[in-house]
Amino acid sequence: MDCSRKAFQHLPGSDAMHATLFRQVRPFGGPVTDLAAVDGLLVAELPAGARPVVVEGGGRIALPTLVDAHIHPDKTTWGEPWYSRRPAGSLPEYVAGDVDLYRRQRAPIAERAHRLLAHAVTRGTRAVRAHVDVAPAFGLDGVTGLREAAERLAVRLDVQSVAFPQHGVVRAPGTAELLTEAAATGLVDAVGGIDPAGFDGGDADGREQFDLLFDLAERYGVLLDVHLHDRGATGLGPLRALAARTVAAGLQGRVTVSHVFCLPELSPVELEAAADLLAQAGIALTTVAPSAHQVLPFRALRARGVRVGLGSDGVRDSWSPFGNADMLHRAHLLGWTTDARTDDELADCLDLAAHGGADLLGLPRADLAPGAPADLQLLAGECVPQLVVDLPERELVVKAGRVVAEHGRLVD
Ligand SMILES: [Zn+2]
Repeated sequence: MDCSRKAFQHLPGSDAMHATLFRQVRPFGGPVTDLAAVDGLLVAELPAGARPVVVEGGGRIALPTLVDAHIHPDKTTWGEPWYSRRPAGSLPEYVAGDVDLYRRQRAPIAERAHRLLAHAVTRGTRAVRAHVDVAPAFGLDGVTGLREAAERLAVRLDVQSVAFPQHGVVRAPGTAELLTEAAATGLVDAVGGIDPAGFDGGDADGREQFDLLFDLAERYGVLLDVHLHDRGATGLGPLRALAARTVAAGLQGRVTVSHVFCLPELSPVELEAAADLLAQAGIALTTVAPSAHQVLPFRALRARGVRVGLGSDGVRDSWSPFGNADMLHRAHLLGWTTDARTDDELADCLDLAAHGGADLLGLPRADLAPGAPADLQLLAGECVPQLVVDLPERELVVKAGRVVAEHGRLVD
């Protein structure tokens, strides 16, 4: 196999339609075949007279590009000088660290977010759900900065935005007004929440915070995506309240809960009951696979009809020096934290990064079948489980049938 940097040959096509032929590729590591795309979608065969752009795959594996269902591009120091983190042991301390770092950054949010999301594209990401802090300390800088970054990447990456009250709603006066402004002006797709009973100081059902969120969802049609780190009853109480309120408001399919550390600690019987409650309410979950005891039991949840997405969370921010916005690497970490051993278990991790996130963001699955979005990546390797373990270079990244990145660099 020719893995040189000039391995991909692009021949010009016609202007009337945009057709691409990916020759000699192996979808999901299967037999060698050709994939064809017309105007952004894969097709069983090219129409007569099509003059496609031809990409020689050279026997590389074709995988879907992946979906990062939970990332914080506004907080990142990506491309900035190394930042030495100070110890923090509680949410208030981490939040204070965010503000401190925000004031030290050299580049504005738009630039740092663009750097990080552009990097994600080169690593095979097709879409992200991006949480940006909304708090009196920042105003709507995160929201507008993310929009600027997303516009620069428009044909390469789908970006869903969440106005995230990292500093709390009840405990941070002024935040409710900012969230309302973000939702009312259509600047964001979703509004977030955070630990209503623990961190935000509300009652056991999170009533005050949820009153605002559901009011915004009903008035302005925004999605909801709530960070829930609280464990035990402090987490489960608001989770159950959220499920009940979602059903009462008819918002099934429009609410997500992220992290949900109260679920992995449940017994199998308790987990099944919680999963059924979430599935009936159409509530989706995201995990970032942070550790063996905090990763969501995604197979059990999906088996009972709960949509689950995988994400990066913070990337090289004030909270942690780790992270890289590389969703294949995140699938690898998911395998590591869930103790994946078999090929099926490793393939499940890729499936969550590809289709779990697509389902959560409401995107069509990029399953490499005719009719699917022509969103794919080419890698050299043997088979899907080996790719999840070895993390080879994402040699070519394709969005809507067009090459958007090659050998780690964006293509103009
Ligand atoms: Zn988060």
